[in-house]
Amino acid sequence: MSDARLKQEVSMKKTGRLSKAQEHLLGMDIEITRRDFINAALIGTGALLLDLPSPAALFAETHEIDGYGGTGDYAVSHGNMDAQRQAAHSHFGNLDKAPENAIDTGEVYDFLIIGGGFSGLSAAFEIKNHYFRERSCLILDNHDITGGHAKRNEFEIGSYKLYGPQASNSFMALSRPSQPGYDIYNRLRLPSNFNYQEMEKGLNPLQFDKTNYGFMLWYDDPSIGHHIAPFVKKGSRSPDQMWLSDQWGKNFKDAPVPPQMKKDFVSWRTSQEQYYAKGDYLRWLDSITYKHYIENIMGLNPRVTKYADPVLASSVGLGCDAISAYAAYQVDMPGFRNFKVLQSLRESDWHSFPGGNDGIARHLVKALIPDAISGERTFPEIMNSRVNFDAMDRSENKTRIRLGSTAVWVEHDGQPKDSEYVMVYYQKDGKIYRVKAKKAIVTSGAYVASKIVSGLPQEHREAYGQFHRSPIMVVNVALNNWRFLYKLGLTACRWFGGFGFSCNIKQPMLVAENHPPLHPDYPAVLTFYIPFYYPGAPLKEQGSTGRAELLNTSYYDYEVRLRKQMVMLFGSAGFDPGRDIAGIIFNRWGHAYVSPQPGFYFGRDGKSAPRDIAKKDFGRISFANAEHNGHQNWVSAAEEGVRAAKQAMGVI
Ligand SMILES: Cc1cc2nc3c(=O)[nH]c(=O)nc-3n(C[C@H](O)[C@H](O)[C@H](O)COP(=O)(O)OP(=O)(O)OC[C@H]3O[C@@H](n4cnc5c(N)ncnc54)[C@H](O)[C@@H]3O)c2cc1C
Repeated sequence: MSDARLKQEVSMKKTGRLSKAQEHLLGMDIEITRRDFINAALIGTGALLLDLPSPAALFAETHEIDGYGGTGDYAVSHGNMDAQRQAAHSHFGNLDKAPENAIDTGEVYDFLIIGGGFSGLSAAFEIKNHYFRERSCLILDNHDITGGHAKRNEFEIGSYKLYGPQASNSFMALSRPSQPGYDIYNRLRLPSNFNYQEMEKGLNPLQFDKTNYGFMLWYDDPSIGHHIAPFVKKGSRSPDQMWLSDQWGKNFKDAPVPPQMKKDFVSWRTSQEQYYAKGDYLRWLDSITYKHYIENIMGLNPRVTKYADPVLASSVGLGCDAISAYAAYQVDMPGFRNFKVLQSLRESDWHSFPGGNDGIARHLVKALIPDAISGERTFPEIMNSRVNFDAMDRSENKTRIRLGSTAVWVEHDGQPKDSEYVMVYYQKDGKIYRVKAKKAIVTSGAYVASKIVSGLPQEHREAYGQFHRSPIMVVNVALNNWRFLYKLGLTACRWFGGFGFSCNIKQPMLVAENHPPLHPDYPAVLTFYIPFYYPGAPLKEQGSTGRAELLNTSYYDYEVRLRKQMVMLFGSAGFDPGRDIAGIIFNRWGHAYVSPQPGFYFGRDGKSAPRDIAKKDFGRISFANAEHNGHQNWVSAAEEGVRAAKQAMGVI
């Protein structure tokens, strides 16, 4: 199939259902992918559909949102699933008092934690460490598996088991007590040395990012490519000349852009200047957007901002026009003192477990409930063993995890200041239950807390009103082979316009018997981070527009767009979607990141910062989530969880 022919046949616009011939060109009629997909769609929509005539099944297929979820324990939960969205939307914001006719479970816990992500799991871990077996703790999570944003996708391709991150991806090995997060990392007995698969001798020695992140901006390397089609005059280059590699390493020497623009790009990445000399430097950064910083303070071309937008949005949800310059500084964007680019992907000291930070979340679960992951408490067993769902919620355990349970209402049993209990109402399997606890820790994020916590003080409400969430989608594409990338001499790339902006194959970590291949003729996972941002629109509107787009686009439409994009990028290097794609999982995160606007960190107009207010207890209820830090990573989420647990235990 020629690239030109495909482009002619399939326009890049959203077209609804394609013709059979167009689907064939995109490889969408290939047996394995479609069979897996339709099975998932039918399970998700109810077994009744099995009996429906084909037009109805077709309708279900083209409107299905969740789609294929891969294999293994995480297949049921990839991103925000339709079931959780329905449970949330039928209650959140619709209740003004506790649901009537709730079934009283009769349980009374010392602590009840809402949310089984890093914050919730770490809060429980802190409580368990402090009280050992004396106090009881129940975690409610609305998904069917723990981890929050730290979950994996699994694929089985031939004899290979391959993983990709559903969202949270990279971490640093922590070996010094002075490093943030060291305490919990160490107590979880996470290793500090890791082994990675290497390419066979005799092959062109490409370099790989060990994560799915750094290549976006932080490394110069010949294995990182830029697709420059939008900057090239029509007909002046053939499709395979559209790739430039190591552009940062070469200071954009070959890029088809004016010399001043090249200079601006280089200044952005190399400037070590501090543009503000007074003592309140960080507060000053938090008073302006990163766009203002790049264009007005550094005096650079708006193209630099455009280049930075998707990278920043992949870390905090939105682009430079919306985000505080302090947030950009916090997530290590260029333009600030101490920003450092590494000269080769080899130099990286960042790691990623095969399924991303699910590796850390699994260690937390194992430490809380030893039987919840089968096998010994060793690194390989925690990583490679099956989840034992039956063990999560056993009455004989002091710490319990109740999955598929959406908290819909939380209230004090009386006046907050002199009540003895908190009542938590949750929906599970279509029924509403009520459970009692002496203390509650809400780790679900402000967007949920503000809707389910009854009587929340005005100060909290106002603070929560300033936590604006934005979506992101993470796509893992299982490839039967990646010879097309090898032919281009690339393992990671960026492009401009179209669907997404970057993707890569990370270097697989070796964990005991799990040895994924690293050879262009063998399977691998290609990962895409797809942010949603709309420069110039108000911040809140950008988040809701992105969410509407993300949650209303069917699996089918996204699959078409992804396949077209891949053909556009890699068709000339021999990529054939029908032959090369083995499976696609879309992980949709409607409220992925809080997007910190100016004033988020230090407050505005003499008022306290919203994140400081949000950390305060309300009666018997404490709050935690990575968003309280602003820089959302596994460490900040865990630290916030520990902080909230200490508040709830009354030890700080
Ligand atoms: C796309 C993406 C990429 C990232 N990459 C990295 C990275 O490379 N490295 C890194 O360190 N960090 C990364 N992060 C950030 C990191 O993963 C998060 O900071 C962390 O996972 C947040 O943990 P949390 O517990 O605060 O929130 P969450 O993970 O959101 O956990 C909250 C939990 O509460 C549940 N919940 C919500 N409402 C309810 C309810 N009403 N009832 C019951 N349960 C409820 C949610 O389903 C979820 O399980 C990334 C995040 C995203 C979104």
